[in-house]
Amino acid sequence: MQEVQQILKARNLRSTQSRKEILTYLLSNKYAVAHADVEKTLSELDRVTIYRTLSTFMEKGIIHQVSDDTGATKYAVCSHQCDSLGHHDEHVHFKCVKCEQIQCIDTVEIPDIDLPEGFRPLYSNYLIYGVCKEC
Ligand SMILES: [Zn+2]
Ligand SMILES: [Zn+2]
Ligand SMILES: [Zn+2]
Repeated sequence: MQEVQQILKARNLRSTQSRKEILTYLLSNKYAVAHADVEKTLSELDRVTIYRTLSTFMEKGIIHQVSDDTGATKYAVCSHQCDSLGHHDEHVHFKCVKCEQIQCIDTVEIPDIDLPEGFRPLYSNYLIYGVCKEC
């Protein structure tokens, strides 16, 4: 709980009950979670509050988006290098084909890729499929 308050304070966010609950849930989960997961777990919160809180967390560099091949957007907690000025989540994500969970592999950076002339990259989303440690 202490950590949650600190994270919010460091980003100049008031610690409202919903922010604390959502952040606690995100931190307790080592896998990326979808909006629907938050909604199911914290069923007393309404959709709009969850939606707003997640986008505030994104803006403030607390969480980042992880795109899944199913089209569902998932969110994972950022490393300490991220803040409201920008994200630095240039790491790969791993999707397990057995448990279907996605996790951040913070220790592995997205490799530099040489694009043909005229192509300007904006961001990358590097998803590796395989079987995770637990499966
Ligand atoms: Zn980030
Ligand atoms: Zn797995
Ligand atoms: Zn990540």
